[in-house]
Amino acid sequence: MNREDSDVDIRNRNKNLKEDGDPRFSGSEAMTRIESSQQGNSILSSLISILVVISTALIVFAAARNSITWHFQRFWGASGDFWQALWDRILDTIGEDALTLWMYGPIFVTTFVYWFAGGIYTLLDMYNKPSAIMRYKIQPGMNEPVDTKRLMKVIGWVLFNQFLITPPGSYLAYKAMQWRGYPAFRELPTFHWVLFELAILILIEETGFYYSHRFLHSKYLYKFIHKKHHEWTAPIAVTAEYAHPIEHIFSNILPPFLGIFLLGSHVATAYLWFSITIVATLHSHSGYHLPFLPSPEFHDYHHLKFNQNFGVLGVLDRLHGTDTKFRTTTQFTRHVMMLNLVPPREMFPDPSPKHQLGK
Ligand SMILES: [Zn+2]
Ligand SMILES: [Zn+2]
Repeated sequence: MNREDSDVDIRNRNKNLKEDGDPRFSGSEAMTRIESSQQGNSILSSLISILVVISTALIVFAAARNSITWHFQRFWGASGDFWQALWDRILDTIGEDALTLWMYGPIFVTTFVYWFAGGIYTLLDMYNKPSAIMRYKIQPGMNEPVDTKRLMKVIGWVLFNQFLITPPGSYLAYKAMQWRGYPAFRELPTFHWVLFELAILILIEETGFYYSHRFLHSKYLYKFIHKKHHEWTAPIAVTAEYAHPIEHIFSNILPPFLGIFLLGSHVATAYLWFSITIVATLHSHSGYHLPFLPSPEFHDYHHLKFNQNFGVLGVLDRLHGTDTKFRTTTQFTRHVMMLNLVPPREMFPDPSPKHQLGK
C-alpha cells in the first residue's frame, strides 16, 4: 500500500462522512458543523485515552513507591521468597557472568519462548485441530491449513533473524547496559517494583514501536524493508518476526530494549518483559481471537489494510487518527477480550451488504 492509496482512502472516508450526514442537515454549513464536531469528538476521546494512560501510570507509580517500603516487602512475603529461591538456583547453575546474563540470556529466553508458544500456534495452523478452534479464526478460510512452503520460508527467515541478527544486537545491548549500570544480579526486585517497571516499559514500547513502524510505512522504507513483513495479509503467529533484518533491529529488538536501558532494570525483569513482548506479538499475529485472551483484531487489521493501526496498544493511533477507518468496522466491535466461549464472529456477525455497520 503506497501513499496514493492512503490518500484515496482518506478522500473516500471524507466523502463517506459527507454522504452519511444526518438528513436533517443540508448544505455545506451543516456539513462543516458535522465534520468539525466529529473532529472535536475524536480529539477529545484521544485526550481522554492519554489521560487514562497517564493516570494509570501515576497510580502504578504511587503503588510502586510504597513497594520499596517494609510493608510491601512483608505483603509480598512468601511468594517473593519462592521466586528468589528459584532465581538463586538458576544463578548457581549458570553463574553470574555479565556477558552470559545480559547477552546470551536474552537470546536464549526470547528464542525459547518464541518457538515454544509459536510452536503451539503453528500446530494449530498445520492441522486445524481441534476443529472447534477454527470458529475463532479472525479471517476464516485463510491458512486453513497453512501452506507448507510459505511456512518453511517464514521459519527460515525468523531463524536467520534470531541466530544472525539478534546476537550482535544483544551484544550491543550488553555493552549499553554495562555503560549505564544495572542492579546486582543476586537480589530480585520487589513485585511492586516489577509491576511499576512493566507499566513504564509498555508505554515506552508503544512509543518506540508506533513511530518506527509508521516510519517503515513511508514510501521507500516500505518498498525495501517493511514489505516483507506485509507479505502476509492474514498473518499467523510465527510471522511475528518474519521481517527484513533492519526492521528486526529497529522495530522488534530496540523498542522493548529501550525501556530496560532507560530504567536500568534488573536482568530478571528484562527476561520477564522480553517473554511478555514475544508472547504478545505471537498472539497478535496468530489470527485466532480466543476467549479470555487479549484481542488480536487490532494488528490483524493492520495486516489486512496496511494503513491503519500502527501501534501496539492503540493509544497513539487514537491520537494521530490512524485508526479512524478501523473504528467503523465490524472488526473494531469484535476488538474486546471475550469473556465467554462464543466466537467473536458469531457474537458480532458480519453485516449483511444492505445494512452495513457504523452507518
Ligand atoms: Zn505485523
Ligand atoms: Zn506495517
